[in-house]
Amino acid sequence: MKQCTKKNVSEDDLLCSCNLDPEIRKSSMRFSFKVWSMALAVSGILLTQAWCTAKAPNPGAQVFGKIPATLAKNWDTSWRETSLSERIRPIDPIGIAYVAKWNELDGFDEKPQPAELTPERRAALIKELENLPPYVKKFLEGNIAAIFTTRELGGSAMAGVAYNDSMQPEFGFLFLDTEMFETPANEWITAKEQTLFAPEAGKTFSIQIEEPGSNTSAAGMRFILLHELGHVASQLSHTMPPFTEEHLSLNSHFAKLSWTTPVVTRFDAEFPERGRVKFYRRPPPFPMSAAKDIYAKLAKTDLPTLYACVDPHEDFAETFALYIHTVLMKKPYTVRLIDSSGEQVLARDRILLQALQKKRETIQGLLNNGWN
Ligand SMILES: [Zn+2]
Repeated sequence: MKQCTKKNVSEDDLLCSCNLDPEIRKSSMRFSFKVWSMALAVSGILLTQAWCTAKAPNPGAQVFGKIPATLAKNWDTSWRETSLSERIRPIDPIGIAYVAKWNELDGFDEKPQPAELTPERRAALIKELENLPPYVKKFLEGNIAAIFTTRELGGSAMAGVAYNDSMQPEFGFLFLDTEMFETPANEWITAKEQTLFAPEAGKTFSIQIEEPGSNTSAAGMRFILLHELGHVASQLSHTMPPFTEEHLSLNSHFAKLSWTTPVVTRFDAEFPERGRVKFYRRPPPFPMSAAKDIYAKLAKTDLPTLYACVDPHEDFAETFALYIHTVLMKKPYTVRLIDSSGEQVLARDRILLQALQKKRETIQGLLNNGWN
């Protein structure tokens, strides 16, 4: 891996990304954002001769505190008196404008459209939310103003944060693509991972996040909503750098556990493919035959999943979701590869590893001490 050297640049100002091809970064930003959440990938980094001297602009600075949905004053405050069920509603114009802005930034053509849930699907989703651990449910009720249901979101789910006049984060809002209801949890997360590893004859790859008896689409939605909730919690608790910052920083105790800049981890020398871990690429960046090696390298890091390799914010959201999913709800996270040599477990419940203790403590601290 090509290394960057600093010259008259403070550590916090330096976003050393010499190892990343700008075209790779650009397209990865488009896909990773569309499917999971905040577009916090890096763009427009300038390289100057042998050293990096540029700050990476944060695309979120053009959205948060500027687009109507991200201003708390544009929301009817009565949402706090409504039930979670009432907050699950078809995307409204303010939500559409928020998604449209991200689509514009990412060069996407999708136009989200309001979608109603059937009574059965709504009941299944509410049941999943009702069964969350009490303080997670309490956070959802106290801090999420809406769960917008939509078609053509361009991905599974998304999150946003609204700010007050002092530009302090007040509450969050979430989006769910109703297509999520077409796929059970294990098949959904397996399909997501297969956008990283291209299918190959004779090799079967799977991720299990639910036991067979509870492998429903609503369970998958609960999992992805926990990830999105993680993004909101990271802001309301000020655990991660603010989405509003003009340039991406690493001003966060959590982020510094694994990352040396917003685009470089402590593990990149031994895991040079880490910077190419980009989901939703067409074609996928790796063949299925690379999965074993990639997971072996992930095993030597303190990143909970491959999705956490994308950037520090995804690292936090994955850690948050997996902590609740595995530690609190006792649910599995097992990655398997089946080929001619039989079945191999590539990863299992990484959130429980000793290497992730400090990350677990951060999330548990949030849950213990309140969120904002
Ligand atoms: Zn995310």
